[in-house]
Amino acid sequence: MSGIVIDHDKCIMCGLCVPSCPFNALEDQGKIIVNENCKVCKICIGVCPTGAISLQEEIKEAVDKSIYSGILVFVEHFDGEIHPVTIELIGKAQQLAKTINEKVNCLMIGSDIQESADSLLDYGVSEVIVYDDPAFKYFKVDNYANAFEEAIKYLNPSSVLVGATTTGRSLAPRVATRFRTGLTADCTVLEMRDNSDLVQIRPAFGGNIMAQILTTNSRPQFATVRPKVMDAALKQSRFGTLTHKTLDPIRRASKIKINEIFEKASELDISSAEVLVVAGNGIKDEAGFALCEDLAKALNGTLAVTRPVVERGYYSYLHQIGLSGRTVKPKLIINCGISGAIQYTAGMNQSEMIVSINSDENAEIFKHSDIKLVGDVYEIIPELLAQIKGGHN
Ligand SMILES: Cc1cc2nc3c(=O)[nH]c(=O)nc-3n(C[C@H](O)[C@H](O)[C@H](O)COP(=O)(O)OP(=O)(O)OC[C@H]3O[C@@H](n4cnc5c(N)ncnc54)[C@H](O)[C@@H]3O)c2cc1C
Repeated sequence: MSGIVIDHDKCIMCGLCVPSCPFNALEDQGKIIVNENCKVCKICIGVCPTGAISLQEEIKEAVDKSIYSGILVFVEHFDGEIHPVTIELIGKAQQLAKTINEKVNCLMIGSDIQESADSLLDYGVSEVIVYDDPAFKYFKVDNYANAFEEAIKYLNPSSVLVGATTTGRSLAPRVATRFRTGLTADCTVLEMRDNSDLVQIRPAFGGNIMAQILTTNSRPQFATVRPKVMDAALKQSRFGTLTHKTLDPIRRASKIKINEIFEKASELDISSAEVLVVAGNGIKDEAGFALCEDLAKALNGTLAVTRPVVERGYYSYLHQIGLSGRTVKPKLIINCGISGAIQYTAGMNQSEMIVSINSDENAEIFKHSDIKLVGDVYEIIPELLAQIKGGHN
């Protein structure tokens, strides 16, 4: 690893570096030492009058990218029922793989999963690596990571895609670390360069910028993607194969013991709604929220909200769309009194039809909308309701 080093022969103990460090990473202990707070910001290098402080760069051999090929998609499932994010990742992987003429493969780990694993071949996957063993009946991050590691060693993929679900978020970093490679979490856009570098794009700094992250000198490149961000793969003619693999008993044993399994109480899931009416900060009172609820009901839809509405205490976090809420991709979304901040739009801009109502004709939300209704929500929603009920044309 790269790090700050002190050349004690050059150090004159002037003490200038210690207060210059914003992270309190330098200590005077008779000689200057660098502690674990160091973020390698390099400010101390500039203040040292004798050049005693320097950055020791890790010399890493250039990775031979030619020995890595294909995109591996981790298949998330529960009891063989495949999570929709898997099919979305296969769809994206196929687009990416096409640009570099490589294959898309899947990894499925579980127990009694032959049939589900086989169904993945309907999506044009080249090879599905299957670890089918009672030891994998339930997701346990330790032995799943062992199987994942073995599959990567067998396939040598150039990129690995995992759903940014609870399971994926705990598994992917653990596996990426074993290969001492990079992982970019919660990507919203993925692009492929000709040299197989995966451009991993995600909001950063509170959503104020879209960062493009590259793992230029390590393989494989790991990315997680939230459900509903990518388009699902379509079924096509089958040509791929299933490859059954086993782990040795030590590696498939888990230290995690499951005592009891509880069914999770069902909760509101706005991300599965086909129609969403979203109330923003432009909705000022109970009467306004009642109008939005009526509109949602009239369209057989679900009510969702922006973050300020949650913060004002009107609805729970489960209703919130956005970077710190849910990502949604309904057939129809109606934004009511919403300005269009990136932290909100990043969570809904993949929706099929976006209608927005805002009194400000220059509102940012209109740049993301298919239909723009400029005006007061308190007037427009009753008008829409009347039209839905057939009273107007
Ligand atoms: C790290 C971080 C994460 C965040 N995560 C999220 C997130 O997940 N989800 C989220 O929503 N926000 C999130 N935010 C907040 C985000 O930046 C915005 O503040 C928020 O999205 C604004 O919500 P809004 O559009 O409802 O409200 P406002 O920005 O206040 O906009 C209200 C809009 O309503 C219009 N309006 C007012 N009255 C009427 C009327 N009578 N009729 C019609 N239009 C009217 C106004 O013209 C205005 O455009 C996050 C912020 C940060 C820093």
